[in-house]
Amino acid sequence: MLVPFAATSANDGKGSIMKNTAELTREQKRAFARNRSELYEIEQRLREVYQTARERLAEAEWIAPTTERFPCIECACEDWEGSANRCETDGCGHPGFAHWGV
Ligand SMILES: [Zn+2]
Ligand SMILES: [Zn+2]
Repeated sequence: MLVPFAATSANDGKGSIMKNTAELTREQKRAFARNRSELYEIEQRLREVYQTARERLAEAEWIAPTTERFPCIECACEDWEGSANRCETDGCGHPGFAHWGV
């Protein structure tokens, strides 16, 4: 497991790994900012993929175009199961965003 450097240096003995934003170094702030910006790009792209996937499934008459929440967009799994990062339904195993988008 990856232990953030800040987690070890900022441990208050109560198991807390939170660090006040004001205490972050310029390098740490820059690292967080870059992470945010890269994830934001992926999130935007994922939204597009998800939108297209929904349209495709609606066209194939698998879902109604207006359905808010619906089964997996990667397979015929009808409902999310489990609490892990991936659906535990037999034959699915796809991630949460395949089930409910972003
Ligand atoms: Zn599933
Ligand atoms: Zn699936």
